[in-house]
Amino acid sequence: MSMSVNLPAVTVLGLGPMGRSLAGAFLRAGLRTTVWNRTPGKDGELTERGAAGAESAEEAVAAGEVVVVCVVNYDACDAVLRRDEVARALKGRTVVNLTADTPSRARDTARWAAAHGIGYLDGAIMTPAPSIGTPEAVFLHSGPRDLYETYRPVLDVLGGTHTHLSEEIGRAAAYDIALLDIFWTAMAGYAHAVAIARAEGVTARELAPFAQGIGAILPPLFEEFARDADSGTYSGGINPVSSAVSTMAHVVEVSESHGIDAGVMRAVEGMARRVIGLGHGTDGIIRVAEMLGRH
Ligand code: NDP
Repeated sequence: MSMSVNLPAVTVLGLGPMGRSLAGAFLRAGLRTTVWNRTPGKDGELTERGAAGAESAEEAVAAGEVVVVCVVNYDACDAVLRRDEVARALKGRTVVNLTADTPSRARDTARWAAAHGIGYLDGAIMTPAPSIGTPEAVFLHSGPRDLYETYRPVLDVLGGTHTHLSEEIGRAAAYDIALLDIFWTAMAGYAHAVAIARAEGVTARELAPFAQGIGAILPPLFEEFARDADSGTYSGGINPVSSAVSTMAHVVEVSESHGIDAGVMRAVEGMARRVIGLGHGTDGIIRVAEMLGRH
């Protein structure tokens, strides 16, 4: 395929499941793609499809105008990027860091890049590796808008939707952290629910359709609660914290009656009781956000 002959050459550093998917999408679109991974032997399928496999990170970097980094975290990024040979090879190029980590690590990496004459964009991928190259992929970006616009056609090759959130380099990571907070606490809640259901003789499969129903309640609540949180109204509506807290206590009671750790729900109940203690029992659960923000 040659639709992308006018796009710059790309390098992908990091060939875990996500790095391999990113490189695969570049190859599919016909971009000249060079790949490297700390542990050799992960580029086989990509080189068979036309990628150049580099012997070292500096060799890989030298082959691409845009260097996409996707490793486990920023400690790994630092181990790859912050070596003299690599920093020298990166000078004048642009790093698009799609590794997940914290906003402060993104800011620190941006300072390092600026000090070494390296263009820097930071991004977060909100969908799993198989989504890359499909309409389902979701990417969040932050950093200099002109740099983003320059390389937008390269990013578009990765499919899905790309949103430039802010020039503030930590913003993509900030969204990522907030969204991961939702995801992992929800998954912990689900895993805990399965443990309780099993203890009561209900299989995960039997629970699944109703669990999906609970999931479907959430999207409209995110809209409604966002309005409340941003306007500071916290209306309790049909489900004030004073009522909700007793259902939380039931989960704790049943859980512990089966000897199942109820730590997560105890924490949730504790937050709800603090809201009530502050005199906001008629408010909705989103009042918790305001309470937590006050420390
Ligand atoms: P991992 O998060 O498992 O990261 C594996 C990659 O990190 C490998 O290339 C590995 O190299 C490299 N690595 C780890 N430690 C070091 C180090 N010290 N020095 C150099 N390289 C190192 O794999 P993924 O590809 O799944 O994820 C990459 C990033 O994408 C992560 O930040 C993840 O959170 C994010 N992401 C992943 C998604 C997914 O579906 N997989 C979804 C959304 C985001 P080696 O092979 O040598 O160990």
